[in-house]
Amino acid sequence: MKRFLSVLVILAGTSLGVFGKALCLDNELKALGGGANASSSQNAGRWRVKGMTLEATAKKPYVVFNGSNIYTGTALSVSGQKFFIQEHDWRKHVLPIVNPQILPQYRKPIKTIAIDAGHGGKDPGFISATGMREKTYALDVCNRLKAQLTARGFNVVMTRSKDVFVELKDRPAKANAAKADLFVSVHFNAAASKAARGLETWMLTPVGEASFGTKNLKKEADPANVNDGANLLLAYHVQRALCGKIDIEDRGVKCANFAVLRTLNCPGVLVECGFFSNPAEAALTATGHRRDQLASGIAEAVQQYARALRAPVPESGRPTREDIRRHRIFKH
Ligand SMILES: [Zn+2]
Repeated sequence: MKRFLSVLVILAGTSLGVFGKALCLDNELKALGGGANASSSQNAGRWRVKGMTLEATAKKPYVVFNGSNIYTGTALSVSGQKFFIQEHDWRKHVLPIVNPQILPQYRKPIKTIAIDAGHGGKDPGFISATGMREKTYALDVCNRLKAQLTARGFNVVMTRSKDVFVELKDRPAKANAAKADLFVSVHFNAAASKAARGLETWMLTPVGEASFGTKNLKKEADPANVNDGANLLLAYHVQRALCGKIDIEDRGVKCANFAVLRTLNCPGVLVECGFFSNPAEAALTATGHRRDQLASGIAEAVQQYARALRAPVPESGRPTREDIRRHRIFKH
């Protein structure tokens, strides 16, 4: 029975690969100025590219950028000591982080940031064992974030600034009406197991992929899928800034079709800032210090995202016509 099951798994993996073209990760990174694979393990890869460390493991559906897992639609594979990644995964989950210069349309100054405090009013969100309501703490982090961003010279719009219920679809609509340049939704996580812990950042699922933990491939684009590349870049910087600042498990960047992200005109992410179902993590969130760290981490991430987009293209790394053809990311 076990053998039969494993044959099925292999068949399923193969059939997924039939639809996409696999790219040699080593070659793609080399074309962007990256070094050779420095890993001593056959099933693991480790490269330096543009000041970043990228790691990959055979048969794992993620790559690791500077320690943060970025989940891909399909597992990576190894053949003849070379790593292979689906072209779709390369375009949607790797290239915009390695080479943000392929996103020139997002280089305009970031003026207005929409902050979305999860839940509110009749919807408390998750309630911890000690009675902490997610809606209250999400709003508190958002208020601190507003102060941090305002101090850095950004305009801020909040989808709610008090304890009121706001429909999910009205949240991106408020961001769009304010012509926001970025959108950040703040939530806290919950799981059946009290042991679950850590922080994760979510981007909208690209077309052709399944949302994290599900199997159904997304067939139709949402309006916000035009921002796939920038959604990823923002999610990466939010995840990296927060996990670099806070002593918290890094659960990575994941994809879901969250209603608050689907109709945004601007890049957006949803941050799950720790588990309210984990007593230790909930207790830490009860401290103003942790909530300040969350706010300042997100504010720093916004600046790092903007800096990454502005960084000049090094002469040797200027994309060739062939690069542009292969790395075209604007259509989906
Ligand atoms: Zn929530």
